[in-house]
Amino acid sequence: MIGVFGGTFNPVHYGHLRTAVEIKALLGLEQVRLIPCRLPPHREQPDVSAEMRFAMLQLAIAGAEGLVADRCELDRPGPSYMVDTLRALKAKQPEQTLVLIIGGDAFLGLERWHQWRRLFDFAHVVVMMRPGFVASDLHPELQQRVIVDPCHLRQSSVGYLWFQQVTQLDISATRIRQLIADGGDARFLLPDQVLVFIKQHGLYQAVS
Ligand code: ATP
Repeated sequence: MIGVFGGTFNPVHYGHLRTAVEIKALLGLEQVRLIPCRLPPHREQPDVSAEMRFAMLQLAIAGAEGLVADRCELDRPGPSYMVDTLRALKAKQPEQTLVLIIGGDAFLGLERWHQWRRLFDFAHVVVMMRPGFVASDLHPELQQRVIVDPCHLRQSSVGYLWFQQVTQLDISATRIRQLIADGGDARFLLPDQVLVFIKQHGLYQAVS
């Protein structure tokens, strides 16, 4: 099974990296592919280019076994719809089971994703939850996909929804960008190499 973890990664931080590593171990994934979007369809366009965000991701995971920076959305024109990404990955490796990894906050907006129902035609979906979270008021089509044991992820190659408890770090890229713009110290929220890159390229500075 391969994990697929998409995001803006503007910039990538330890909240992303720690949960990617944890999910990989908990579900016994062969690898987790971190996939920065080129044009996020559901939010404002980032002012840092996709190539820069990808470069930061590469620096962050250099040498981290089982984490892969995947540029497939960068090379595809138009908005970066996850359903297209999953379709393309599945077409390349039809024998692989794909597990789409999404954060609890992103999951709350899932029904606004382009062709969200079709995500389950290509992958399972795993939602990373904080300890104690209980999913309530799920869309009936999501409810019927919920499994009670992650072992079931290996019994079918697509279509299940699993809520995985992880130790989520309360770190967000928004806060990091704000901190840097304010001239603050963002050390230990993200890898040092990424911070060096941010400084070298003058990213996230306040516009004066
Ligand atoms: P921003 O603050 O700009 O919205 P972000 O920190 O939420 O960014 P994204 O790149 O938008 O990061 O998120 C990519 C994915 O990572 C989403 O599924 C999101 O829910 C998840 N995620 C973000 N931060 C964390 C965190 N601290 N722990 C676990 N998952 C996270």
